[in-house]
Amino acid sequence: MLTQIGDGVHLSGGTDVNWVLVQDGDALTVVDTGYPGDADRLDASVRELGLVPGDVSAVLVTHAHVDHVGSVARWWEHHGVPVLMHADEVPNATGERAESATTLDVARRAWRPRTALWAARISRLGATSHQTFAHARAWTDGAPLDVPGAPVPVHTPGHTSGHAAYLFPAAGVLVTGDALVTGHAISRRRGPQQLPGFFTADGVQAERSLERLRALDADTIAPGHGPAWRGPLGDAVDQALSPRP
Ligand SMILES: [Zn+2]
Repeated sequence: MLTQIGDGVHLSGGTDVNWVLVQDGDALTVVDTGYPGDADRLDASVRELGLVPGDVSAVLVTHAHVDHVGSVARWWEHHGVPVLMHADEVPNATGERAESATTLDVARRAWRPRTALWAARISRLGATSHQTFAHARAWTDGAPLDVPGAPVPVHTPGHTSGHAAYLFPAAGVLVTGDALVTGHAISRRRGPQQLPGFFTADGVQAERSLERLRALDADTIAPGHGPAWRGPLGDAVDQALSPRP
């Protein structure tokens, strides 16, 4: 199901994770792709816009965790769609480096019913499979990217070294990936927040990256997990940095 959150910008999602479709005429940019098991839902969300997967001009990746890159290989192979990310994230995508929570990290917390249910759900979607992607390419930092929606990438390291948010200036939408979320299956908290620490490679860097988001010109957040959020970015950052209750 699609939710329009800005001019041409739609938030959609699979199981416990979001992706974003940005339409410009009959061309589309997709940001993140859900779990491997979400592939059919991702295709369906493109068709809901009256387009087909071959209309996608580029897939942008916030970071190369399995819940965000589950379909990138398939899109490259079937449609030749370029898959772009920050240069520091490419090694996570190609498998040269691994910055992610391990099965053991999750198992240690699985005594919590909420976590156990979530772990069972995502393992059915291929969460424990190792997704590596040799065709990952880096975009060049800074200027708007030459893809539908003209997004400005914002390097937000912490969750992973090459994590990036994407600002869609015309729509006033910031796609935050896992640098800032508004909910998660294993969190009771609602509203802007950080993911539980064991998901994050470098917590200090993650907080510094949040500070970088304050000054961006957007009033809508499309997070990697949780619903869209509308309001001043500074308020979202304040909430995300406030201690967990
Ligand atoms: Zn995620």
